[in-house]
Amino acid sequence: MNGGGTLADTFVHASVPWQRHLADAVRDVDELWRLLDLPVEDLPAAREAAKQFPLMVPRSYLRRITPGNRQDPLLAQVLPLAAELEDVPGFTADPLAEGGCSPVPGLLHKYQGRALLVSTAACAIHCRYCFRRHYPYQDVPRRGPWWEPVMAYLRAHPEVDELLLSGGDPLTLPDAILEGILTDAEAIPTLRRLRFHTRIPVVLPERIDAGFIRLLTSRRLPVVMVLHVNHPQEMDAQVTEVCARLRGAGVTLLNQSVLLKGINDEVGVLADLSRSLFDAGVLPYYLHVLDRVAGAAHFLRDDTDALRLHGELAARLPGYLVPRLVREEPGAPGKTPLTD
Ligand SMILES: *Cc1c(COP(=O)(O)O)cnc(C)c1O
Ligand code: SF4
Repeated sequence: MNGGGTLADTFVHASVPWQRHLADAVRDVDELWRLLDLPVEDLPAAREAAKQFPLMVPRSYLRRITPGNRQDPLLAQVLPLAAELEDVPGFTADPLAEGGCSPVPGLLHKYQGRALLVSTAACAIHCRYCFRRHYPYQDVPRRGPWWEPVMAYLRAHPEVDELLLSGGDPLTLPDAILEGILTDAEAIPTLRRLRFHTRIPVVLPERIDAGFIRLLTSRRLPVVMVLHVNHPQEMDAQVTEVCARLRGAGVTLLNQSVLLKGINDEVGVLADLSRSLFDAGVLPYYLHVLDRVAGAAHFLRDDTDALRLHGELAARLPGYLVPRLVREEPGAPGKTPLTD
């Protein structure tokens, strides 16, 4: 057993800057195979799949994976597979057709009242099912205060009262950049909420250091953070502690998951996930059915299965622990519920 990250780990590594933990993530397929004792016969296909979408796993996430267990639900989220190379009809590079809803570079304004800043191309982990695996990130401006046209747009659109920071993962940005974006956003009187969509508190908890907590504390605007946890095994002691610190800074914590075949597609797992999230002060928000992105077809559970699972979940848990089952549809005014 690998025991997972502990509070002692957090303490011991506190002097190592988070950027070092990020740089230290496993990016080499052969190294992953060695560290986790995986079957060598799967290695050539994994190398091929990683050419299309590179492998990336932070070591704190790796510690929550049981070596030698090919079925580990955390491993399955990051493991490059031969199945990714198959061309499956209906699975495309841009399933959400996001190309058309960007009024200024770096901003997606699809839904009433909220706009999403594509703040960076980078992530701390590469999830194999990700709908952004083919995203044309080179279009995202990167130099100087590149978010200024975004702020001008928000000033001209007072009906937008919430700015979402997404990506990629916005927490891969240095504190100084985040401080710049938050300060400029807070100067727009019509904005009422800031929201981060991030997987980093879960996959690179070292990132939530004292400096970042200081940055979030006492902001003019309330901060919401939507985490992305798919399986209760991702919620170890270190992650729970990080959630407590974020809540201490006044952050409202929500979670979205993706329903993933072979990973969290059992009612017991989903119920445990909701309970673990609540224990850490996080409320379930959305359970997404998979976006039909090329290379991820092997993670799909169909709508009938999703609805049945969701119904079973609702029968087991109090309403506030049941995430809304949704799908993203191009052109829809918001996430589309599968339930009526
Ligand atoms: C998902 C998404 C949002 C947020 O939707 P909520 O229902 O408010 O969580 C906003 N903008 C874009 C472009 C999105 O994809
Ligand atoms: S955007 Fe989110 S789901 Fe996609 S690879 Fe990055 S962390 Fe994973």
